[in-house]
This record gives sequence, structure tokens and C-alpha cells, in this order.
Amino acid sequence: MPPPPLATSFPAVQGVPGAEPLAPFPDPHRHDPRLERFLHDASSQLCRWLGSASASSPLPGLSVLPAVEPEATGLTPDRLLADLQLVMEGAYNPGHPGAIAHLDPPPLAASVAADLICAGLNNNLLAEELSPSLSRLERSLCGWLAERLGLPAAAGGVAASGGSLSNLMALVTARQHRGLVERRDAVVVASAEAHVSLAKALVVMGLPHSALVSVPTDPGGCLDAGALELVLADLERLGRPVIAVVATAGTTVRGAVDPLIPMASLCRRHGHWLHVDGAIGAVFALAPDHAARVEGLGLADSLTVNPQKLLGITKTSSLLLLARPGLLLDTFRTGLPYMEASWGGGHGGEAGLQGTRPAEILKLWLGLRQLGEAGITALIDGAIQRRLLLEHLLSPLADLELVQGALHLLAFRPAGLSPEASESWSQDTRNALLARQLMLSRPVYRGHHHLKAVLGNPHTRAAELEAVAEVVSGCLPIR
Ligand SMILES: *Cc1c(COP(=O)(O)O)cnc(C)c1O
Repeated sequence: MPPPPLATSFPAVQGVPGAEPLAPFPDPHRHDPRLERFLHDASSQLCRWLGSASASSPLPGLSVLPAVEPEATGLTPDRLLADLQLVMEGAYNPGHPGAIAHLDPPPLAASVAADLICAGLNNNLLAEELSPSLSRLERSLCGWLAERLGLPAAAGGVAASGGSLSNLMALVTARQHRGLVERRDAVVVASAEAHVSLAKALVVMGLPHSALVSVPTDPGGCLDAGALELVLADLERLGRPVIAVVATAGTTVRGAVDPLIPMASLCRRHGHWLHVDGAIGAVFALAPDHAARVEGLGLADSLTVNPQKLLGITKTSSLLLLARPGLLLDTFRTGLPYMEASWGGGHGGEAGLQGTRPAEILKLWLGLRQLGEAGITALIDGAIQRRLLLEHLLSPLADLELVQGALHLLAFRPAGLSPEASESWSQDTRNALLARQLMLSRPVYRGHHHLKAVLGNPHTRAAELEAVAEVVSGCLPIR
């Protein structure tokens, strides 16, 4: 019998007659100038998009989309780039100076390059044999960052695709470590203003909604430590086991930071796990003049950090850091029977929920190297300065109630309106702002719609903030 045949080439793609088409897979034998040209053209297209961010609105109108299904034969590079362009035209525009609605800053240049390289390497952070250098980079960078944020010397962690996942993995680890896996009556204790990802985590963990015990906040939006003490005493009396106490370092509406040090000492006294959700606030500890805004981060048993939110590391970039990182392996290890054993302290895919993972660590590492300590500090300084300026511009407006915390977020609404009136005020004012290419968000907080500004966009200047104040002033209800 003849050996079965192997196809030696790909089916023909649509191409310019006479010209050799772009190979679908990069040639492993020689440098391919057509591939280089294609990536170069794609970069040029991206650079044109980035460089014209301020020419349109932060939020473009509905755009035309290319066909979603593949054609009978593959497309030429020109058509691929044209398709990309159509999608780019409808994209949210985080580089616009008026983009101050959400925790989504423009991307750091080094992060963009690292993302491209990450795609080209196509390594897998599941196991060391699939990502030898990148696995080591992830472990070292997590260790360095943990120590830099004040965790003990042996601390470390793992990268996760977003803060929701980091929070989930923290709670699962805490539950496992505390021997509460079988307990249906176990609870998680957090402030009433903690992030919605905690409720999602409980759904995944098979716990009822009532397993999230809310502690009231003070007028500043921070968990009330006195109330926490009472809640913990109650739970103890009732015999309800506590999976973890969660402190939020930067709430999503106003950037309030819970009292980390008193919470940590309460946790020590009661023997509870302290998880700090620092998705927004943890990075402030990197700037010497601002570290006091999140003092006590290092007392956490586990800490969520989202460099995607203020530092401009491209999405997604989140880390879960633990004082005792070995607990991640204790919780998630399965033995990974189809991989060579780890030679460096455990596979990344054994230290968390995700299996196959991209090398998200690359863009964090290169982004931080690009910024340097001075750049990191400047980014954080700038965010705080913009919040203080906007606060200064808005506070003289009569009857405008501002809510803020220690970080770079500021929300506001006119005092004395009904919830319905607050809602329509927020809608009208947001539209008036959008007409000036200024985008704020419209969260509901304490029963009322607010307008919220997140001041992490490094392109936002005083002129934009003055324009916000002018529009808001013109939209205040007349009394
Ligand atoms: C954004 C955020 C999260 C969730 O992070 P994702 O990356 O969106 O999953 C968790 N906690 C807080 C306080 C946040 O602001």
C-alpha cells in the first residue's frame, strides 16, 4: 500500500494575479517580507487610528460592520485590513481627551508592542514547557510586585484575565484553606459598596446570595470598622463560618478606600482571611506620595491588582497576589497529567482557574519598564491632580453634591431631586457633555443616578475639565 498523501500547500487565496499571496502561517524557514509588510501595514493603520483619537467622539455612533462569515477562499491582506478598518471605526476611543467615563485608559505604547509579540509567540502560560521564559517572568514579576505593594518577602501570585477572576480565585483559595468547602452556611463579609464581582463569585462557588454579608459604609463610602466588629461578633455567635473579609481599596463609583489597617487587625483577632480588592487602588502604593491613600495593603492575605485600570496596560491585566502563594497550588492543583513536571515552583495553570492563558505578563512587564518609577508616579500624580481640579471647578456650583474618596474618581448630582429627576438630569447632562465630546458615566449610587468622572486619562487637560464644569453648570435644575 502506498503511504497516505500529505497536502503540501494551502488552498489558493484571493490574490493579485501574478503576486504571491500572504502565507496563512508564518514561514518557519525564512524571513518573509510579505508577512513583515502585512504587520507593518496593520501597525500603520493602528497608528493612524490612535493618532486621530481626538478628531471624533469618545463614543462613536453605530458603524458599518464587515461580513462575519469567511468567504469561499481566503482574503488578501488589503481586504483584511479594510475589514479591520471598519471595525476600528466603530470602536470606543479611550485616547480621546474627553474619555473620562470609565476605568479604561488609553493603551501604553510598550503594552501594545508586547501584545503583538505575545500573539506572535503564541506561548501558553498553562505549563512551563509551553512558555519557559514567560512562566519565569510571570513568577518573578508577581513576586516583585507583591513585595513592592508591601506583602511579605515570600509573597507572589498569578496573572488572571480580569479582576473578577482574581477575586473569585482569592475567595475559592480562602475557602479551601480554611476548610470550609463543605459548609453551605459560610459567608463572605464585605462593605455594601463592594464590587459586583463578589456576588458573581458566590454564584460560581455554589453559595446563596445571602452568603454575601454587607457591612454598612460611612458617609465617605468606606466600610465602617465599628459595624464590621459587630457583624463578626454576630456571625461568631450564630456559628456562621467566615470565608473571608473583603476590603475594597477603591470603590467603583467614588474610589473610597476601606480602613485597611483596622480591618486587618480585626481579621487577625478573629482569625479571618483578609482579601483586599485593590482592582482600582492598589497601584497607588507604587507612588511614594500617594501610597498613604491605600496604607495597609500589605496586611492582606490576598490582593487583587488591575494594572489595566489606571496604568494603561492593555486588557486584560490583573494579578492575584498572596502572602502565601503556595496556597494557590494547594487549591487548584490537579497534577496536570499530560504535562512534564514543573521545574520552577509550579505551573501557572495549576495556580488558578484558567488553563490555557496568554502571556499577559509580557505587556505588564514591558509597560512598567517603559514607564519607569518616574513615569508610574507621574501617571498617578496626574490622575489625582485632575480629580482635585475637577473637584475645585465643581464645588462652587450651588446645590451640587460631590462624592469622592481618596483616589481619582469623582461623582456628583444636584441635591434635593427625586430619584426620577436625578435620572433624567443625568441623562440630559450626559447628552450635553457628549455633544462637546466629553464622556462621563451614569452610575446609580445610594438610590440616585450620578454622573461620574474617572480621571486616569493622561490626555485630559484643564480645558476638558473646565468644559465639563461649564456644561454641568448649564444643566443644573433651576430653582
Ligand atoms: C473593575 C473592578 C473589579 C473587576 O475587574 P474586571 O477586570 O472588570 O473583572 C473588581 N473590583 C473592583 C473594585 C473593580 O473596580
